[in-house]
Amino acid sequence: MMIQTVGVVGAGVMGSDVALDLACNGYKVILKDIDEAAVRRAKEKIQSEFRLLKMVKPKTKPLSLEEVIERITFTTSYDKFGETQFVIENITEDWDMKKKVYLELAGVCGADVYYAANTSCVSITKIGALMPRPERVIGMHFMNPVPMKKLVEVIRGEHTSEETIRVGKEFLQSFDKVPVVVNDFPGFVTNRVLMQMINECVWLIQDQVAEPQDVDKIFRLGFEHKMGPLATCDLIGLDTILYSLNVLYDSYKDPKFRPCPLLVKMVDAGYLGKKAGKGFFEYRL
Ligand code: NAD
Repeated sequence: MMIQTVGVVGAGVMGSDVALDLACNGYKVILKDIDEAAVRRAKEKIQSEFRLLKMVKPKTKPLSLEEVIERITFTTSYDKFGETQFVIENITEDWDMKKKVYLELAGVCGADVYYAANTSCVSITKIGALMPRPERVIGMHFMNPVPMKKLVEVIRGEHTSEETIRVGKEFLQSFDKVPVVVNDFPGFVTNRVLMQMINECVWLIQDQVAEPQDVDKIFRLGFEHKMGPLATCDLIGLDTILYSLNVLYDSYKDPKFRPCPLLVKMVDAGYLGKKAGKGFFEYRL
């Protein structure tokens, strides 16, 4: 099957990046969010990130901004989802919200569409079980920022067919990604480890063991991490980290995933990280 048009649901941090990367690589994209303001912000973000990409990767992105924007339909409706061959869902990390979206997608997309869930921790098997053709559901855990990161953790749900894995891998390779296939278990490989590490660093701040900049400096200089765990937390979004820890905690019933109260308090205060201008560090919006 030729993939030409991709439906991207959720136009936040990840959805807007996925749309930009796909459009830069020749795909037509229908970028859909439930929130008009999110769609507007996504268009602005895509424009400024494209300019940045041009500077960082000048040779690999020969298109003009106009050509890229022209390939993306920014919308709050499912009207054009009948034209898609592949859908990548990137909505909020909340099971009830995701469930609603998949049931809607099943009603508006063609029978042959493949569905990829870009999720930090939600079970791909549980999503597959909602759909009329569960063998066509796969997990694609993209890394942030998407156009700069080659790795995609591909998750094989209980029902995912080998054909879907093959199509998914070929699709990812077509826009220069490197897929690594893992089996479905909450948090997969990346986030089962990363979320615990970030959470423990928040405990360090709560216990006043060190300031955020010093925690990050220890990881950068001591372990050669490109980015410290608290800057990573800000980049991902504190709300997304909290949602993910809650999913892990509920799934394993293991106290090691219990979200640090300081994380909960910061989310309650609206300190969601880079996207909000403030998290463990401050950002200009
Ligand atoms: P975000 O909060 O930035 O964006 C989520 C978007 O989904 C919002 O714009 C919201 O309006 C939209 N949305 C909510 N309900 C919707 C609906 N019914 N229909 C359409 N849109 C809807 O979140 P994000 O950081 O982009 O994360 C999205 C997904 O990607 C999550 O599952 C997250 O776990 C996963 N993820 C995030 C990162 C990261 O670094 N932020 C990395 C990998 C994966």
